[in-house]
Amino acid sequence: MGKFKLKLSFLIVSMTIMVVLATASVSIWSSYQNFNEILVENKQVMQDTYVKEVTAITEGYLKGSMKEDDALEPYMEQVVETSLDERVVPFSLFFTKTIVPIILIIAVVLVLAIWLALKIARPLNELSKMIEAGEDGQGKENIADWYHEAKLLKKNVQNMMICAESKITDLTDQLNLDSLTGIPNRRRMDQTLHELIINKVPHAIILIDLDDFKSINDTYGHTVGDEVLKAFANHMQNSMEEQSTCFRYGGEEFMIILPLRSIDEAVELAENLRVKQALQETACGRPVTMSAGITAFTPNVQSPNQLIEIADHALYKAKQSGRNCLCVVRNMRQMIIKS
Ligand code: GH3
Ligand code: MG
Ligand code: MG
Repeated sequence: MGKFKLKLSFLIVSMTIMVVLATASVSIWSSYQNFNEILVENKQVMQDTYVKEVTAITEGYLKGSMKEDDALEPYMEQVVETSLDERVVPFSLFFTKTIVPIILIIAVVLVLAIWLALKIARPLNELSKMIEAGEDGQGKENIADWYHEAKLLKKNVQNMMICAESKITDLTDQLNLDSLTGIPNRRRMDQTLHELIINKVPHAIILIDLDDFKSINDTYGHTVGDEVLKAFANHMQNSMEEQSTCFRYGGEEFMIILPLRSIDEAVELAENLRVKQALQETACGRPVTMSAGITAFTPNVQSPNQLIEIADHALYKAKQSGRNCLCVVRNMRQMIIKS
């Protein structure tokens, strides 16, 4: 069935009201006519009765059947009053013939108008409730968009919600992703570590720093340096197993978090990455190696900074040990791993 237009609905309502008013006017007019006829009829009957009574009284008086001291006036009044009492139009007749039909018509029009108003308002109400509840538009299919404007509004609200959702996703990405490499940033890293630590979820972390990166910038330029960073982030992301996430910690430093993984598993992943990175072709044409500090969560770790500090210290040791190597901190003991 085609969708009605709201304008058409108002046209129908207006025409209905006009028809009802016309019918009501005709019915009032015909009731008035009936009423008039009854009055005229009654007037005639009253007049006839009155004439008959007056004639009877006059004749009686002339024939001497009435006594001289009989007062004519009270007798006449009584006759007229009786006639009026008998002949006056009863209110019940006027009520049933005039008032009841009008009340009925008005009631029907009112019910119709209220029904139509509710039907028109329903989709608008449902849409506003959906927006108020901040729903993602899943319940929109149940909205009865039986007229054109409601359908348009529903479609626009839906588009608006999709647009808002994608803007929110964009903004969240901007907030949590690193603009150069596209991987999660430091802010996201802090959140992830914080959640793991407060929930006491076992995990290991790998803090990575590219070796002699300043010399790459100095020799090949900042743009080439950027390309090297992007390629490394990409390489690192491709080496990730499920659940593990890599982050750009800042500058040429990166972090890998491995939830529910042991320190040995972290060492295996880091060593694999280190060996491959040393062999990887780079934008500057020479190998860019990495060093890493590795540690794991223990129940005495209270904050992300505490854990990062241990990994940072291990990284420092790796640099001191000649770069392109790993330093693992396990039970407060450091161990260097290199080829
Ligand atoms: P080390 O092996 O001790 O880590 O030496 P390094 O040269 O890598 O360390 P250093 O801290 O001296 O230099 C890091 C360099 O990384 C300096 C800085 O210009 C560069 N860097 C930081 N962020 C970016 C970036 O976004 N793009 C580029 N191209 N370079 C960056
Ligand atoms: Mg550094
Ligand atoms: Mg460095």
